[in-house]
Amino acid sequence: MDAVEGIPPAVTEETEAFWAAAAEGRLVVERCDDCGAESFPPRGMCRSCRSRSLSPAEVTGRGRVYSYTVNYQRWTPDLEVPFAIGLVEFPAHPGVRVVGRLRGRDPEDVRVDDEVEIGFEPGPGGYAIPSFTVVGRGQAAGQAG
Ligand SMILES: [Zn+2]
Repeated sequence: MDAVEGIPPAVTEETEAFWAAAAEGRLVVERCDDCGAESFPPRGMCRSCRSRSLSPAEVTGRGRVYSYTVNYQRWTPDLEVPFAIGLVEFPAHPGVRVVGRLRGRDPEDVRVDDEVEIGFEPGPGGYAIPSFTVVGRGQAAGQAG
C-alpha cells in the first residue's frame, strides 16, 4: 500500500503532538497535570476535571481489543476486504481507547480481549495512523459478546 486514499487529518493545536509522535512510531495521549486522567483523542481539555493543563503521555505496553468490526464492503477498487478495525484499550492507561486496523490475524478470527501491539501504518496525506497487530488471545476468548 503506497498511495493511501482518503482525507488527510486536520492537524490542530490540540492534535499536533499526537501526529508528531505518530510520525516517530509513538502513541501519545493527553495526561491531565491536575488529576492525572488520560484522554484520547486529544482535545485540549481533561475529560475528567476539565483542566486545560495537559501534557503528552506515551502509551506503552500491549493493548486489548475492546470492540471491533469486520468490513466486507469494497469502498474503493483497490481496497482489500475483509479487514478488521478495532477499538483498543490499554490496561496501563485507563480511559484511553484508540481506533485502528487490526492486523496479524484473519479478520474473522479476531475476538474481544485479544492482545495487540501498538504500531502505525501510512495513512492519507502521508500521516502515520495507529494500527495494531494481534499477538495473543485474551481471557474472554470463547465467551459471548
Ligand atoms: Zn483532570
